[in-house]
This record gives sequence, C-alpha cells and structure tokens, in this order.
Amino acid sequence: MSSHTKARIGRRSGSVSTRVKLFTGVALVLGAAAIVIAERRRPLRARTQEEPRREIVNVLMGVGCGIAIMTAETPLVAPLTRRVQERRTGLVQQLPLPEWARDLAGLLLMDYTFYIWHVLTHKVPFLWRFHLVHHIDLDLDASTAIRFHALDMVISAPWRAGQVALIGLTPRGLKLWQTFFFLSILFHHSNIRLPEALERRLARILTTPRMHGIHHSAVEDETDSNWSSGFAFWDHLHGTFRLDVAQSEIDIGVPAYRDPDETRLALSLELPFRPQRDDWRRARTRDGIDIS
Ligand SMILES: [Zn+2]
Repeated sequence: MSSHTKARIGRRSGSVSTRVKLFTGVALVLGAAAIVIAERRRPLRARTQEEPRREIVNVLMGVGCGIAIMTAETPLVAPLTRRVQERRTGLVQQLPLPEWARDLAGLLLMDYTFYIWHVLTHKVPFLWRFHLVHHIDLDLDASTAIRFHALDMVISAPWRAGQVALIGLTPRGLKLWQTFFFLSILFHHSNIRLPEALERRLARILTTPRMHGIHHSAVEDETDSNWSSGFAFWDHLHGTFRLDVAQSEIDIGVPAYRDPDETRLALSLELPFRPQRDDWRRARTRDGIDIS
C-alpha cells in the first residue's frame, strides 16, 4: 500500500466528517433545548419533589457519567470503531449495502442490543444495584435521563465495546447512534404532554414519555415493561409494550425508597454498596395492594 493511500485511509477512518459533526451537534443542542422547554410548558405528570434540588442532583450525576464515559468507554470503544472502518469487520460491514444503509442497520442493532442490556440491568442483581439509582428518582423528567451512577457507565463499557465490535460500527455509525440515543432518552424521560392520540401512533415506532412513565412506575409488573430506549419495535416484538396505565395513576420511583433524602447525591452514590432492600414490597402488582 502506498503511503498516500495509507494517509487517505487514516484520514477517513480516524475521525467523523465535519458535516456529520455539525449535524449531530446542532441536532443535540436544538433537540435538548426543545425538550426541556416543552416539558415545562406542557407537563404530563404533576411534580412531587422540591426543585431545583432534585434537578441539580441529577445534573451533577450526569456530569459524573460524562466523565466516566470519557475515561472508561471512549478509550475502549473509539479504537474498535477505527478497526471496523479499516478492516470492514463486524456484522453490518458484511452487508452488500451502501455506507448509509450499513449505518442504519448498525443503529437498529445497537438499539436492540441496548434493549437486552436494559432488561439485564433490572434482572441481574449486581447490575440492578446500579440501575436502581436511576429508578429511585421520585419525579420523571429530562434530568432523570442523565441521573445514573457513574460506575454504571464503567460497568456497561465492555458491553458497549462488544456491541460496537460485533455489530460493526464505524466512527460515523457510533456518532449517529450516540446522537439518536441521547435525544431519545431525553425525550422519553421527559415530562412532555403530547396529545394522547398522537403519542399512541408515535409509540408504534419510538419510545415515548407515557411508555417510559409506566416503566418508572412503583408497581413492579409495570416497571417490567417498556424496556426500549429508542425504537419501540423491540417491546412490540417481545410483548413487553404497555400503554394501559394512566399517568395520573402512577407513583414514580421504587417502593422501598420513598424518602426524598435518599435520592440526594451522597446517598445515591452509596446506594449500590449498601445492603439491598426488598425493592417492590407491597407493590408487585397494582390490584388491591397499597402502593403508598
Ligand atoms: Zn429501567
């Protein structure tokens, strides 16, 4: 291979084009601003918590997650995407399709494997200790979307590396998935009241605020639904889709953690390391059981 060709491949594989960076950057800023404004103008659920205390805690936890992703996930995943680009490794790179179609197939498979990861974070006790920190938030809005334990990001980094390598995401494919995923989690955690008929149609395709409100319910069999984080196809496919609970009926949170003081920063960060409680006591199903 000539040095000229090597340099060209290096340039192509090492970074994402300016056009894609600009598109994803603008989409993130405008999308996030629109979601945060809309949830204040047209709230879906009444707030129960004192603000801005809860939102400040959530944003601080989000900053911790950002640092954890930059230090644990990016150094692991970025070289893998460059390897995919250079050697055409991974599942979608074997498809006889144009690059944009391979990116789209990669995005769909990332989304589906994230559905599986989300189920695991609820069902594997060690992973639940960390995901629980996200679920004990007593209100649900866009700030909840970034309320995760930083170590949750570290623990999920090997899963992400496996997704990227096996599915075959290029640097561009990863950037597009990250942008879609981040806007999607801001949207479905948000407290935006969409017209119900519109939301029911949208929920055939995308994870929506009412869907995810049911996933954050303090009733266990409601939490065990709507695991999708981007496209809603996976819940429809696995029979885990629900939109049959009114948001006014839902208590957001986990029954064993109803004390707002336990959602504060220090206690939230300690939570995975404390003895675990019977999280869903008295509230495994809605029928006839006190969920207060
Ligand atoms: Zn969850």
